[in-house]
Amino acid sequence: MLHRPSSRVLVTGAAGFIGSHLVDQLLLEGYEVTGLDDLSSGERKNLPADSVPGFRFVQGDICNSELLKELCRGVSAVVHQAARSSVQRSFARPMEALTVNTLGCLSLLEAARDAGVERFVYASSSSVYGPQGQSPCSEEYPARPRSPYAVSKLAAEELAHTFSAEYKLMTIGLRYFNVFGPRQSASSQYAAVVPRFVTACLRGESPIIHGDGSISRDFTYIANVVHANLLALRVMGSPKSRIYNVGCGNAHTIFALYQHVARELGSGPSPIFAPERPGDVRHSLADLRLATAELGYRPCFDLRSGLGPTIAWYKQCTARGLTK
Ligand code: NAD
Repeated sequence: MLHRPSSRVLVTGAAGFIGSHLVDQLLLEGYEVTGLDDLSSGERKNLPADSVPGFRFVQGDICNSELLKELCRGVSAVVHQAARSSVQRSFARPMEALTVNTLGCLSLLEAARDAGVERFVYASSSSVYGPQGQSPCSEEYPARPRSPYAVSKLAAEELAHTFSAEYKLMTIGLRYFNVFGPRQSASSQYAAVVPRFVTACLRGESPIIHGDGSISRDFTYIANVVHANLLALRVMGSPKSRIYNVGCGNAHTIFALYQHVARELGSGPSPIFAPERPGDVRHSLADLRLATAELGYRPCFDLRSGLGPTIAWYKQCTARGLTK
């Protein structure tokens, strides 16, 4: 059974890759949306104009408790995406990862609790699994985080559990597996593999593969992630505190990803192989049975069907000189 919460939603990390797609879909479905973002990596241009009915953008920090208190007033659900979202960056800046991803989440949980928010849907990460030795990863497997980023996400999950147990706040954590799609940043040194490969090939440069290419990932198109969040916002009868995997349910090696990208583009320069990076888990694949049974989640796009619109978007940006 689905439940439509009353319609005011606070989306954090709204100007980022995933947050901005969530804002679009929530507005389309008639929600009133406040988007919060400090624009540290997100961009205002990812979001609708302030004149769009039902939408308001606030530039601010999720560690600012006073601001959160104000923004949570009258809101029925929080959709929390804001984070310093790179494993590699978290090795360079561990304090920042823990401060924003864990303490920022705690500030938001407190504000949501105090304002009587009903539901707190938040982004977690497949990185909390770390190396498992078994595949696909089920939510019941013990977490083995191997980076400050993964620790920060796991700690946020534990805080959410605690708040659900002690207070009247339903929390649903979604462990995303390697999300890709339009608007994902390609320009940072910590950019994810899909934007790096696509933009390198579009520029006629060799993409860099860390390791021998046999590392595998469950690449998840953005529309699947948006779908999962909407289900989490509406599901009834789920336990008060839950964690679900959100993936596609298929593993592809990094080399296979390169081949798919090159095929979609018609050709691509040969890749360059570089050393593996710290914190890179060898294999990652989502077990989707719990999300399917309790949320009704079923991925609608696979890697190939998601790559088409993704590449088209990077082509447009490249043509307009918007990717470095
Ligand atoms: P992103 O960097 O595009 O978006 C994160 C947004 O949060 C940015 O707009 C950034 O400006 C904002 N932000 C950062 N610190 C903030 C702060 N202190 N206050 C307010 N806003 C702040 O990343 P994304 O890929 O859209 O990730 C969204 C969420 O999904 C994150 O929580 C991330 O950890 C999680 N996640 C992403 C992936 C993936 O593959 N993209 C995988 C697993 C989990």
